[in-house]
Amino acid sequence: MEHQPGRGGGPFLARRIAADPEFRRPIELADRLGVPPSQLEGREPAETTVYEYADAPARPWWLRWLPWRRAPRLVRAVTTREPLYTEQDREELLAYAIYREGLCPVCGGALEECTSHEATGIRFKAHRLRCRRRDAVLRAAEELENPRRPEALVWSTTTIRR
Ligand SMILES: [Zn+2]
Repeated sequence: MEHQPGRGGGPFLARRIAADPEFRRPIELADRLGVPPSQLEGREPAETTVYEYADAPARPWWLRWLPWRRAPRLVRAVTTREPLYTEQDREELLAYAIYREGLCPVCGGALEECTSHEATGIRFKAHRLRCRRRDAVLRAAEELENPRRPEALVWSTTTIRR
């Protein structure tokens, strides 16, 4: 059985999902693809078919001398399939949903941190990087004098290695 009781279920898993990107990544991918996480790991639900045969009818006394080669008669075949989503799959996807609900819609950070008290909560320090590829496009756009309908221009860049 894959379910391990006593692990705290959703909230425990949601915390692990938030804290452990390695653990979160396959669950995130499964959620995006709409498949159970266990399927990404290669699990296929097992399928079992049980065949039920009727007892061979008794040979009538007047045919006792004949060889009796009657095939058993198939009465029914019952196929059972393991569920597509395991209990662990459901727990992980539910925990992932809980984790997602706890994200800030503005920046994708932890909502709890983003909305903490300004005076007593955590503080943030901004860092800046510049995308030099985009910067090259914007510079080139600036150099165009009075471009007609600049919104329709399709820009691209080539990479020049040093
Ligand atoms: Zn935020």
